[in-house]
Amino acid sequence: MIPRRPFGPTGVAVPVLGQGTWNMERDERGAAVAALRRGLDAGLTHLDTAEMYGGGRVEELVGEVLRGRRDEVFLVSKVLPGNASREGTLRACEGSLRRLGTDRLDCYLLHWPGSHPLAETIAAFEELVAAGRICSWGLSNFDEQELAAALALAGEGRVACNQVLYHLGERAIEHALLPFCEKQGVALVAYSPFGSGRLPGPRSRGGRALAEVAARHGATPHQVALAFLLRVPGLFAIPKAARADHVLENAGAAGLALDAEELACLERAFPRGRRRRGVPTL
Ligand code: NAP
Repeated sequence: MIPRRPFGPTGVAVPVLGQGTWNMERDERGAAVAALRRGLDAGLTHLDTAEMYGGGRVEELVGEVLRGRRDEVFLVSKVLPGNASREGTLRACEGSLRRLGTDRLDCYLLHWPGSHPLAETIAAFEELVAAGRICSWGLSNFDEQELAAALALAGEGRVACNQVLYHLGERAIEHALLPFCEKQGVALVAYSPFGSGRLPGPRSRGGRALAEVAARHGATPHQVALAFLLRVPGLFAIPKAARADHVLENAGAAGLALDAEELACLERAFPRGRRRRGVPTL
């Protein structure tokens, strides 16, 4: 099964590997539902979705996956920044719950910083916690300054996570955001862990390094890419896979521990690059 870690200040033990759902409305629906269910069977019970995905259609698809299995799942959805006023957030959450066919989210995220005052969004999140509609809340695509401002507004132990872009080819968060999240006890959730399906091919420098490390473990490059991220304590990764064979391959990464030499080989092939302003996005 998949190892678990406390999900930031919530303390809830959540599997280190979960399942993303972005763009799943484009996949064959029956196969996607079956793949997500196979993932739940394998222990990938952290399901990540958003009201944005497919304009709500993906939440409906996830609702089908959840039928009869809600209590197994750590369910995360996200409010669009344009909806994140106090009233708008309350309304958006009810819409997500309806489409998902559930009475609660385990964590509710602001998808990215927007123009509504963050204090309003946070007030709505806290109202939803008090009403039992969400168990916790977090943020996504926040850089360290934005996260610091959110922590100051929200108070200690309220921000469960920051979900950000992190994969071998995009290591910018290692400079400041990742250590800041670790210091603050905020769970770091790595999205697009394969660069949104763009893991480098076998003839590139990165692809050769992945293949070399994979061969030492009888593993696959995709598993090595996930294991590289999971070396970070307090980190969770949410690969998206609509194919059951991909899902099971990804689940296999949870047992893969890379040694210092292998990590150094990957770090050389995928340099961290210079520190940049802001948080990286797709
Ligand atoms: P990703 O997980 O980096 O890559 C997904 C792609 O990789 C799909 O084409 C998938 O194919 C393929 N794949 C998965 N496992 C594979 C394997 N073992 N071997 C070969 N190919 C494999 O991309 P992502 O969807 O961008 O990111 C993951 C999740 O993060 C999203 O679904 C979403 O939930 C979340 N996310 C959040 C934000 C945000 O702003 N908060 C932004 C982007 C993503 P198949 O589907 O055909 O299996």
